[in-house]
Order: sequence, then structure tokens, then C-alpha cells
Amino acid sequence: MSHLMNTYARLPVAFVRGEGVWLYDEQGKRYLDALAGIAVSTLGHAHPRLVRAISDQAAALIHTSNLYRIREQEQLGDKLCALAQMDEVFFCNSGCEANEAAIKLARLYGHNGGVENPVIVVMEKAFHGRTLATLSATGNRKVQAGFEPLVGGFVRVPFDDLNAVAQVAANNRDVVAVLIEPIQGEGGINVAHRETMQGLRRLCDERAWLLMLDEVQCGTGRTGYWFACQHLGVRPDVLTLAKGLGSGVPVGACLAAGRAAGVFKPGNHGSTFGGNPLACIAALTTLDVIEVDGLLANAARLGEAIRGGFREALKGVPGVASIRGDGLMIGIELDRPCLELVERAMDRGLLINVTVEKVIRLLPPLVFSDDNAKQLVRELSALIREFLAV
Ligand code: PLP
Repeated sequence: MSHLMNTYARLPVAFVRGEGVWLYDEQGKRYLDALAGIAVSTLGHAHPRLVRAISDQAAALIHTSNLYRIREQEQLGDKLCALAQMDEVFFCNSGCEANEAAIKLARLYGHNGGVENPVIVVMEKAFHGRTLATLSATGNRKVQAGFEPLVGGFVRVPFDDLNAVAQVAANNRDVVAVLIEPIQGEGGINVAHRETMQGLRRLCDERAWLLMLDEVQCGTGRTGYWFACQHLGVRPDVLTLAKGLGSGVPVGACLAAGRAAGVFKPGNHGSTFGGNPLACIAALTTLDVIEVDGLLANAARLGEAIRGGFREALKGVPGVASIRGDGLMIGIELDRPCLELVERAMDRGLLINVTVEKVIRLLPPLVFSDDNAKQLVRELSALIREFLAV
């Protein structure tokens, strides 16, 4: 009997080793990893540079606390702010914490501006995390059910619907921010249109609201840009990151710019582990390898190739509703629930995911190669054809 709390429906496999895009289970069977620990293992597994950097850092210093200056954190802050054109950053350990920081920042921003009950506009099908505030911001009843009372101060609108947000703007004077994933991950790889995002930027500027982008899943190079917002041509006021930032070492970040910068003062927010030397070295190394090895271009090119490959291989197959995404964030929507594909793929040595029951989700590491991409398209499209033929 396991003593683990029953919070996950785990697949019956345990991995013991990884190398690049490959994972090996206890029996020595090899799997092509097209999921990267849910968009986390940016550099694949056991990347030599990352292994060396975190080993050296562990030998020198793992943790000191935010009572003291942390040089690696300052360096990472400089690097991220330069890449994202943001002004300042708060480090934490996960995506939900990064979003908690964003939500707190927006509320404080509202209070500072005289709004007594600040409201944040959030989206249907959004996923922002499992803490009380972030599950309340999440647009999925399954995530919320049983945890009521939810945290208040959110109004929900359909995703990618600028008019709906404009209507809220016309009717609600307490709004202080909009929180949106430019590409919804858990919600089914839904890509917001450029016009929507630019319209949101304009609306936020007109109203002095904060545009807060949750790039926990789509950020850190996954779309072929450092951040998805750069592809969409908008600069947010708040940007949240986690998942792929440390390539497997937990690190989250909430960045702020312009009117969102300078809102937090000493004592307003904190995290014991947040931005410790080990986590920051992992993130600095991840960013450096992305840059040096040209992984942004790789993500963009392979993403196109993989989506194109599936379009070709699944052309005219009844039951394939849509193939979409950006860079290495790919969704294949079927017309029926297809969770069983995950185990079928695993039997054949391929790791994939299914979200919202009908969307096959692929989030390969950014070190994927052309051969890996071809294998993924070949094997998964065969599986999808078999599955839909029944
Ligand atoms: N935001 C987005 C867009 C996510 O995809 C996730 C996790 O899937 C989170 C937030 C929560 O991140 P974490 O599980 O690290 O708390």
C-alpha cells in the first residue's frame, strides 16, 4: 500500500533514467518523451551543461534565504527582464505561486488606486493553478468543485473574446487587471488571436488596468519566441513563468513592468525557497543553452514541421477535428474522448498527454530533433488512425 495521498491517477510506469529526449523505465524500456514532464524539461533529460551547472552549484551553495542578497537571483532577474523587456521580478517555486504573486500584485495595485474591492477579469477554460486563489481564477469547475467558498474578485469571460472584456469594462468599475494565458494549455491548446491580445493591451491602457499574462506553460521558448506575447506583439504589465524555466528544477517568476513595477514593498510578499542559488543557476543555464544552441529557432521550425506532418498524415481522416498550436505546444483535437491513447502510445514507447478529454497534447523538449519529430508524427498518426477506425 502506498502512503501517497490519492491526488493523481498515475500511469503504471516509473522512470529511472533519462537522456536527451529519451526516458528509460525500471525494465530498461525506452520512451520518446513528447511531453517533457508537462512542458518542464526544456533541455530534455540529463543535459550535460545543466547537470554540471547544478552539480557545481550544489557543491558551492544551495540555499541561503531571501534575508540576504543572492547574486544568482540578481543575475537571473537581469537576464529575464532583458529578454522579456520587463522591469522587475519576484521569484518563487511554481506556476501557481507565480500567479498568486500576480493576483496579489493586482489587488494591491487596485487598493493603491482607491479601488476597495478589486476585480480581475479571467477566462473560460483557463488554468492558473491549484492554490485557492489560482483555482478560483481557473475556468474549470472540476478543479474548483469541493473547495468552495472560492476566492472572490474574479469575473469570467469567454477566451479570445475582446468584446466580452470590453463589456465588462463598460459595466464594472472595480476591474484592475486581466489575467490570460496567450495559449491555453490545460484548456486544450487554444491560441488567442493577435488582434485579441493587442485589443486587450489597448483596453488595459485606456483603463489603466494591468494586462497579466500567464506564460507558465507557453513561455520560456516553447513557442519559438522567448515568450508567446512577443509572437503576439504585446508587452504585458505582469508576466508569470515557471515550468520550463528551470528545465526540471522548480523555479517560478512573476515579472512586472511599467505601472505594475514598484507595487510590492518589503513585507508585501515572500517565499522561503524562492530564487535560491540552485534554482537560479538551473534557470540561468536553461536560458543560456536555449540561446547558445539556437533552441528558439528549433522550436519554431519543428513545431511547424510536426503540425504540417500531422496535417498531411491525418488528411481526410474522419474524427480529427483540428490540429493547432504554436511552436512546440501542439494540440490535436479529436471528435471523441481519447484518453486511452496515452496508454496505447506508452505501450509503443511514446509519451503524450490528453487534456480536456479530446485534445492530444504534445509538449516535447526544445532539444527535439528532426528525426524525433518524424518518429512522433509517424507513430502517433498511425495510433490515431487505428483509434478512429474502430
Ligand atoms: N498556469 C498555467 C498556464 C499552467 O499550465 C499551470 C500548470 O499546468 C499552472 C499555472 C500551475 O503551475 P504549477 O503546477 O507549477 O503550480
